[in-house]
Amino acid sequence: MGEQSDVDILIVGAGVLGLNVAYWLSTRFECTIAVADLADGAARHTSSRNTGVVHRPYYLDPQKKRVFAQTSLVSHALWESLAKAAGLPWKRAGTLNIGVEESEVKVLEQYRKWGLRNGMEESELELMDGSGVRNREPEVRAMAGLLSRTDVSVDFGAYSRHIWSRLAAMTRFLGGRRVVSVTRRKESTAVSLVSSEGRESVTCGYLINAAGGGALRLAQSLGFAREHATLNFRGEYWAVDEPFASRVNTNIYRPPKFPQYPFLDPHFVVRADGSRQIGPNAVVVPGPYVYRGFGLSQAASFFDRPVLPKARLFANRDFVTMAAAEWRSSVSKGAMCQRVRSFVPGLNPGMLTRRGIFGVRSSVVDRRGFVPEALIFRDEASAHITNFNSPGATGAPAFSAFVIEGLIRDGLLPRFRERTGGQKIPGWDYRSVISRLDI
Ligand SMILES: Cc1cc2nc3c(=O)[nH]c(=O)nc-3n(C[C@H](O)[C@H](O)[C@H](O)COP(=O)(O)OP(=O)(O)OC[C@H]3O[C@@H](n4cnc5c(N)ncnc54)[C@H](O)[C@@H]3O)c2cc1C
Repeated sequence: MGEQSDVDILIVGAGVLGLNVAYWLSTRFECTIAVADLADGAARHTSSRNTGVVHRPYYLDPQKKRVFAQTSLVSHALWESLAKAAGLPWKRAGTLNIGVEESEVKVLEQYRKWGLRNGMEESELELMDGSGVRNREPEVRAMAGLLSRTDVSVDFGAYSRHIWSRLAAMTRFLGGRRVVSVTRRKESTAVSLVSSEGRESVTCGYLINAAGGGALRLAQSLGFAREHATLNFRGEYWAVDEPFASRVNTNIYRPPKFPQYPFLDPHFVVRADGSRQIGPNAVVVPGPYVYRGFGLSQAASFFDRPVLPKARLFANRDFVTMAAAEWRSSVSKGAMCQRVRSFVPGLNPGMLTRRGIFGVRSSVVDRRGFVPEALIFRDEASAHITNFNSPGATGAPAFSAFVIEGLIRDGLLPRFRERTGGQKIPGWDYRSVISRLDI
């Protein structure tokens, strides 16, 4: 007789990704699912600590970032249906990308082409000159702009918690438990978890690792991704005081100075609740949960193996220049303000009296530098999703369906009976999501 599992599928991570994976699996299959998270509630980390923009894929290279572009394109309608069904904010603020210098104007033209190649409609994108920018946003100064009309401001944390509330009857939540080790057995996987109550073990037929900043380490404990390392970058925001705040009504983004690195420069952000913030920067920190200070007590983690991919970056002059500027904008409000003043000149540090949220991106690097897409490692016992960074929250519904479909297609996921009925989110149809993905 085979070994008995406590659950058919254990998902590690109750962020937007893990919860979307749990949603599709539990609405599609007759199987038992548990979701473990070191926090005692859903979406306590990056999924609630971001800019909150449902991005359209105009700024994503259709070749290098194809999966992020396609999953973002397709997920937009799903988030809109969820917002409507749950009565959650769906604020159509739009995003105005601006070119302050000639080289940036060319980037905007490139963005428009990418948007269309990624499947956006012509009517979603509008190129404008400096006076067009000023007509739309009188506080903004630029040579040109590209307006993405269909970018929307939302609260991904609230969206994730809504998904969680629909799952609660079908899925076990193992909150406040850190997965510390995973052991492959003959026909199951034993997962060891630690909580304030002590240590416990759960066995599962299949493990899905959606542990955000902890995902790479967990994958490595099973022998995957030995050539890869994680670098963590904290994004910090400042709230903009009224009355200036509401003089800007569109998200304002400037193309990144160093496009080879996976961060956008600080933006002027219109939040789903109507408040305005500037940010985020990207400050190197030694762990995924270093929300205050510089985590010096964890600094030794920079030497976790493999060291070479990280060392190569720190030997690169562009990277060090960028890291120093990001650090300056962490310790100096004036330096942070200055980055946005370059296109919103009326903003001044006196209007930034409260810090906003903080969120950490865990970026995976290899010998060639930053990995542009999410990286998935899989076998017949487990799947590990790493480097699930921006626009990960936007793309999570379609991305998680894409991951599950790959596991089914390649015969890695155990076979379960199809579930009929169940409480589905209106408009969330698995088959139609898969058929619309051009990947
Ligand atoms: C500053 C910033 C701005 C961003 N802006 C946007 C944006 O505007 N639009 C967009 O689409 N995306 C944005 N993103 C990206 C987006 O937030 C992420 O892609 C997404 O939230 C990742 O979701 P996740 O579920 O993978 O990670 P998380 O939300 O971090 O969830 C992972 C979970 O795993 C748990 N976990 C980790 N290790 C363990 C362990 N060992 N045991 C148990 N549990 C564990 C953690 O507690 C956590 O809850 C932004 C990100 C940042 C940092």
